Formats: sequence, C-alpha cells, structure tokens
Amino acid sequence: MSALKLPFSAAQTSFPHPLKTNNLSDAEKIAQIASHMASVLDILGLDLSNDSLQKTPERIAKMYVQEIFSGLDEKNFPDLSLLDDPAPEETGRLITIKNIRFCSFCEHHFVPMIGTADVAYIPNGRIIGLSKINRIVRYFAKRPQLQERLTHQIHDSLKMILGTDDLAVSIEAKHYCVAIRGIEDDNSSTATYALSGRLESDPQLRTEFFK
Ligand SMILES: [Zn+2]
Repeated sequence: MSALKLPFSAAQTSFPHPLKTNNLSDAEKIAQIASHMASVLDILGLDLSNDSLQKTPERIAKMYVQEIFSGLDEKNFPDLSLLDDPAPEETGRLITIKNIRFCSFCEHHFVPMIGTADVAYIPNGRIIGLSKINRIVRYFAKRPQLQERLTHQIHDSLKMILGTDDLAVSIEAKHYCVAIRGIEDDNSSTATYALSGRLESDPQLRTEFFK
C-alpha cells in the first residue's frame, strides 16, 4: 500500500475547469463573498437587520467556500492510498461501483444538479479503496459544473490514479435549473458518459457496464 497525494497538475483533465488562481485565504474569501452577498440581498429588497436574515450573507459565503464549492481548491483533493491488486491473476475482471450519489451545481444558474455516478474499471496492478472513488466524485462535484465536464474530470483523474486504460464513468443527473425555472420540467434527467480502452471498444463489456 502506498499513499498518493496528487500534485496540482494531476487534477487537471482533458476537460479543464476555467479556473483562475488567486492568493486569498479561505477567511478572506468568506469575508469578501459575505460583503457582496449582503449587497445582493439588500438590492433584492430584504431587510438585513432582521434577526433571521442578519447572518445569511456570511452563511452563504461559508457554505460556498467550505462546503458546496470546496472542490475549487486543489488542497481539498482527497488523500488516497493505492493498494496492490489482491487478485492480479484474474486479469480482465471488471470492478464496478454503482449509484454514487452527488450534489453539484450548474455553473450557468448556480442551482443544484443532483445525481448518481457509476464507475467501472479493469485493474492494471493497483486498486484504490471504494470509498475513495466516492470522494473523488464528490470533490469534482463540489464546483460550479457542467455535467459533461464533471464526467470527464472523474474519468480522467481515475484513469491516471489507477493507471489503467480501461475505465468507464456514467452520470445521470437532474438539473434544478430545468425543474424550477425556464421550462419547469421536474421530471427529466440528463445522462452523460466517458469510456476508454476496452470499456469503449468491447461491446460485451460496454453492455455489462450499462446494464
Ligand atoms: Zn443551469
């Protein structure tokens, strides 16, 4: 077993996030966002001297920085331990993790995009704990996102971490910007996937993954 702390560049993928680095600490980010949020609420006509609203700007700022958008900060990438494959003689076997729940946010409207991810891969000498795959999904979900980008970021980072060419990620998510505004369809969901290696080229493996 070996510990793996990814370098900054390791979280970059073929579908990169439009990120800008700034040198603000979390405390500075929270203070500045809270001040801007107070203006937004004020402009909307809310009375911030009201007990219930008083702390809302700071609450939103903390939630953005420490929780729902914490995946924008590379220092929050999960610590991972790689394990030697315990069954290397079983070459070609598929490891599948289904129904990983996540909550992300659409970057166009900043409202939730809630769904599940399925991951499958063929080990190439090493594996990681299954809960670590959930953590990687959540890390990339905790950003303002596009579903296609989220799918590729999970796929590309797992492919690199696991050192395998044979990997598949599929995501089905409900976009609340479609449910609560615009067309107001609260029934539809969106499916995206990223496949590589034998999971892309072998029809039997593909069928096994998608069934
Ligand atoms: Zn949206």
